[in-house]
Amino acid sequence: MSKAEKLEFQTEVSQLLKLMINSVYSEKEVFVRELVSNASDACDKLRYLATTKEKLIKDDPNFKVQISINKKENKISISDNGIGMNKKDLISNLGTIARSGTAHFLKELSESKTKDLSLIGQFGVGFYSAFMVAEKTKVITKKAGENKVWLWESDGENHFSISETDDTNLLVSNRGTKIELTLTKEAKEYLDKTRVENIIRKYSDHISIPIIVQDGSEKKDETIEPVNSASAIWTRSKSQITKEQYKEFYNHVGQMFDDPWMTSHYKAEGKIEYTVLNFIPSSKPFDLYDPARENRLKLYVKRVFITDNCPELIPPYLRFLRGVIDSEDLPLNISREMLQNNPVVSKIRSSLVKRTISDLKKKLLKERNSYETFWTNFGPVLKEGIYEDFEKKDSLLEIALFKNSKSKDLITIDEYIEGMGKKQNDIYFMTGDSYENILNNPSLEGYKSRNINVLILDDPVDSFWTSSTPSYKEKNFKSVTKGIDDLGKLDGKKDKDAQKDNKSIEPLINLLKENLKDNVSDVRISSRLTDSAACLVGDENSMDPQLEKILQQHNQLNQNMSLKILEINSGHKLIKKLSKMCTKKENFSEIKRISSILYEQSKILDGEKPTDPALFSKNLIDTIYLSLK
Ligand code: ADP
Repeated sequence: MSKAEKLEFQTEVSQLLKLMINSVYSEKEVFVRELVSNASDACDKLRYLATTKEKLIKDDPNFKVQISINKKENKISISDNGIGMNKKDLISNLGTIARSGTAHFLKELSESKTKDLSLIGQFGVGFYSAFMVAEKTKVITKKAGENKVWLWESDGENHFSISETDDTNLLVSNRGTKIELTLTKEAKEYLDKTRVENIIRKYSDHISIPIIVQDGSEKKDETIEPVNSASAIWTRSKSQITKEQYKEFYNHVGQMFDDPWMTSHYKAEGKIEYTVLNFIPSSKPFDLYDPARENRLKLYVKRVFITDNCPELIPPYLRFLRGVIDSEDLPLNISREMLQNNPVVSKIRSSLVKRTISDLKKKLLKERNSYETFWTNFGPVLKEGIYEDFEKKDSLLEIALFKNSKSKDLITIDEYIEGMGKKQNDIYFMTGDSYENILNNPSLEGYKSRNINVLILDDPVDSFWTSSTPSYKEKNFKSVTKGIDDLGKLDGKKDKDAQKDNKSIEPLINLLKENLKDNVSDVRISSRLTDSAACLVGDENSMDPQLEKILQQHNQLNQNMSLKILEINSGHKLIKKLSKMCTKKENFSEIKRISSILYEQSKILDGEKPTDPALFSKNLIDTIYLSLK
């Protein structure tokens, strides 16, 4: 045996190990699930490699997981004849945590009171769960096709050691991995064969290769039966699968530990054939908003795992789906590169999208409450499709739910349209950063007072799709914070009437324009306002104000923020008074001060900071002081 090399764990791993070792988590048994799951993945990987390099498995073609219990030595080991690891693999796989977002989550977990370790599998840290029950962990491994056997050891402190060994008898095959745990005093229960078999039945029945458990009590020539069903669950008929088995498989394949919200299991037969077993989680996965927006579907070809990294299989806006697609038509030796632009893959993709949307539509129609929970979790992700998938835009809008100004309920756009008055032709909406801010924005007053509903769009993604979606079912979308409002028309007022109303206020408008020429592009009378004196709106052709704000926050705005238009309420007592004051020049400096306050407070109501907080504060104090008798 070579001299052992001592290496440090990545800080996050040390943190995680501390959590594991000190955990009071009662379901420590999940370590079996995690290690069996890794063993099965390792066999999947080799099976795929062997489709082009058959000799890798020639001497031992039947994949298996073998669990051995050694009561005397207080040890349990989980062995597989899968792909194995070389030294480099060991260092990067069992010394670091690769998946993005994991470190952050671990930090939160270690700071949280509950320390709910049932979530660990989700973060790609399954292997480390061994340290919940082991005082010492050894990994003996030999990569398929390579000669060296490696021994990795750790007692869960800050480091691990790696050495080369020539003892191939340590493994159950000429390749693969054995994870050997020396159990702590508290974990003796895992030396009981029946206990371990029950854990496998509980979590790992769906594993498609045989799992064998032995403790040395077996007779010499006894054939040991696998503990699990050992067939790919998606190949079985629906009637043979229990709800628990579906859940167990979902937990494994999706690395999610909630119940699936929706399970979709079917076989597509026709020009191309494939089986789908997909799930939608009932809670948000922690990495849902990871910038990579990767999907988590596993692609199989005739029961052979090919990849879980196939961006072509499903668009990013359906990345919350978990599960497998097993194709009969793709060649077994397909490389990841060949999956790009593959006509079979793109056909599967388009029918998967179609099917998922239609399944969701059924849920919306039949199980509204449950759908609303789904929507709260994944609606913002699904809405990305409205601007990314031109073909599916309308079907996605059809199943989208929105907050609105009239009620607290979520509504569909069709329900919105049904509630429109006779004279209303457009679908009104307002974007913003929170429901409350939007609801209290003065721009909505005129709509509220006329009992006109407005969709309240408070997700950042709403600013994107509304900017590229002019209409739905022949009705135009119209932002209530952009362009000239048409409320006058809805009231049946002619343009001439409006002009007459406005004549008397013109001097004030001109003065405001002059005073605020650096801050606004125009000043005009509004019919959107009933209670407030003024508000800011965008020009008809300008970018959605919320979108502009988001782009600016992310330094992606290639221009200066556009100037807004100040709209004033000619019926408001303050505006009336200012209008009267306009007749005397000596009032001009006071009007200037008040114009500035009007502008700044409109910005505040838009959820922004005043342009010049110091001046705003001074103007406000001066005005208050002068108003005191
Ligand atoms: P995950 O399985 O979610 O990636 P783990 O911490 O459980 O996270 O494992 C880390 C990595 O170690 C795996 O991705 C895999 O590459 C490697 N690994 C773990 N167990 C085995 C095994 N039995 N055979 C081969 N590789 C393994």
